[in-house]
Amino acid sequence: MKITVCGSKIGTVSKFIDKKLGGGGNNLQIDCSTQIFGNPLKIDGIDNVDFFEFLRRYRAGSIDAIIVSSSVGEMKISKEIVRKLKLNRVDKIAVYFDLFFVNNSLTWLDFEKYFFPYIEINLIDGCNLSCKGCSHFAPLYSKEEFYNLETFERDLKQFSRKCDLSAIRFVGGEPLLVKNIDEYINIVRKIFPVIAIDILTNGTLIPNLTPDLLKYLSRENVSFCISDYPPMEKSKDQIDKILNEYSISHQFIPKGTFRTILRKESGLSDPLTALKICGCKGSKILRNGKLYRCPIDALQPRYNEKFPDAPRKLPNSTWIDVYNPNFTEMIDLLDEPVEMCQYCVETPGQFEWRNLPNPNSESWSV
Ligand code: SF4
Ligand code: SF4
Repeated sequence: MKITVCGSKIGTVSKFIDKKLGGGGNNLQIDCSTQIFGNPLKIDGIDNVDFFEFLRRYRAGSIDAIIVSSSVGEMKISKEIVRKLKLNRVDKIAVYFDLFFVNNSLTWLDFEKYFFPYIEINLIDGCNLSCKGCSHFAPLYSKEEFYNLETFERDLKQFSRKCDLSAIRFVGGEPLLVKNIDEYINIVRKIFPVIAIDILTNGTLIPNLTPDLLKYLSRENVSFCISDYPPMEKSKDQIDKILNEYSISHQFIPKGTFRTILRKESGLSDPLTALKICGCKGSKILRNGKLYRCPIDALQPRYNEKFPDAPRKLPNSTWIDVYNPNFTEMIDLLDEPVEMCQYCVETPGQFEWRNLPNPNSESWSV
């Protein structure tokens, strides 16, 4: 099969194809690359053609398909590229998705579905740590608040009826507190067999994982991103050893400081400025049948409940109902600011990591 590669990572995609898909019946050969938006690039000797030349070759049958490269930082542009390809009736499109450099996937798109590259899912709202300023408000939730398994399956199925997906990340709270995490992964694999799956964890429970679960995670190609908080320092080598032993792809994310989230001063933030600095650009959350702009907006309702006397009430969350038959028509609106953005800081602030078992209303706005 002769393919064209499109996007900023032509070299990476070609290596991926060589390593993972080359031979063995997966006969993909890169014929040329194209840049639909932006400057043409010639990489590693791959011929670069303009978009219309690509279309001519595709229609003449000398190119069979196109692979669009994407990542969490490039989702907006890759969605545009896919849209433009579909507009021109290109129907053999795959997406190579790089998930935080720790996992990746190649998924073939369904022409009729909306391409939504990546979602995050809070498997559990509570956590075994209580970090001051946690962006998921986990210290305000209990360790018993799970995403119900049946609801999870129903929601994901409903999502898949309308959307193609490249990657999913389990977040929390602490996802490894979920004893039957393998059942959630089974459901994902049933609905989206080849997407990249990653678990964002504080790592403290990795040494307790059973060999069976570790083997399972390795087999299902599930990766870990581990928040490297100061108390983790002494267990890092042990965790590294365990995960290497089971060939589980992982990376440590240095996390000595936390970001101030909520605006402290009176008045409201400019939502576009807050959005620009918040770092939640790609983190859409699927939660109980609803799709949210970011974890902060999805999980902040507990703040008002816990702190009725806080100086400022947070607004209602903004969400899209995935059971609405036309929900994909509204999805792009979630790239825009939501009401909650006005309550987030518009100048970056940081503070040292602290475990704070009894947070107060100020713990997010230091
Ligand atoms: S480890 Fe800390 S930051 Fe992460 S979910 Fe738990 S409380 Fe929040
Ligand atoms: S509410 Fe808006 S500004 Fe705040 S974290 Fe979410 S997307 Fe960013």
